[in-house]
Amino acid sequence: MNIETAKALVTGGGSGMGRNFVLNLAKAGADVAFCDLNPQAIEETVALATDLPGKVVGFTANVADEDAVVQLIQDAATALGGLNVLVNNAGIFRDGMLVKQDRETGEIKKMSLKNWNTVIAVDLTGPFLCTREFAVHCIENKEEAGVVVNISSVSRHGNVGQSNYSAAKAGLVADTKLWGVELARHNIRTGAIAPGFIDTPILQGMRPEVLAKVLKGVPLKRAGSPDEIFSAVRFIIECDYFTGRCIDVDGGLTL
Ligand code: NAP
Repeated sequence: MNIETAKALVTGGGSGMGRNFVLNLAKAGADVAFCDLNPQAIEETVALATDLPGKVVGFTANVADEDAVVQLIQDAATALGGLNVLVNNAGIFRDGMLVKQDRETGEIKKMSLKNWNTVIAVDLTGPFLCTREFAVHCIENKEEAGVVVNISSVSRHGNVGQSNYSAAKAGLVADTKLWGVELARHNIRTGAIAPGFIDTPILQGMRPEVLAKVLKGVPLKRAGSPDEIFSAVRFIIECDYFTGRCIDVDGGLTL
């Protein structure tokens, strides 16, 4: 697919990598719609895109809310005059051990069902709803082709303290594979990207000594940049022989 003529929807475009993807897509000439939860963050992304060649429009929508997603896909397609790229980027984490016993008191703390459900809702149900409605749009409107990019994580391999997040991100890669097969007949391709530690507000919020320790375990000894993840987004959009696979962009990190 030609990126200059893409009409893309990015979820979670108010911050971090999602904002970077919106701006890089618009810089390449694509028209871009994005959603986020925070109206102020949406305004900021739109303002940053003012002078770019592609059109950028923002919507407030929660990817875990079925009605909101149905509306979002319609609104994005109307605003852009079509829709042929979806980047499932919005994601959250609520880390904790499955069970953890306090050494002194013996008290056992559990990962709450609420934290499990919240992460699964945003990180797995969200991409499911968005991809389903995107596919319906492409089929009903006879889009020539479609591309879905799912942002997974190196945690998909199973990261201690992330039962909920690892399950969601591994599930997303499994769905990328099967959606690639199911949707090929409609000329919709899929691809996942599994980033390692990337320089976004999440990382910037970590204590410097903790961050330094974490990055020691990365063979390339540094965090990745959102631009480096965008290179993979661009590849998946542009390579018409790519579908159903996951690209690991993690500096060689093994969990
Ligand atoms: P970020 O800076 O926190 O941005 C995520 C954006 O998604 C935020 O603007 C957030 O809005 C929005 N969002 C959260 N829940 C949403 C929902 N239910 N509906 C719509 N939007 C929602 O995160 P990031 O670091 O750029 O991460 C982007 C993606 O990459 C995530 O899927 C993350 O899991 C994945 N990832 C990140 C890293 C990393 O090192 N940064 C590594 C591997 C994978 P609010 O701020 O208003 O909540």
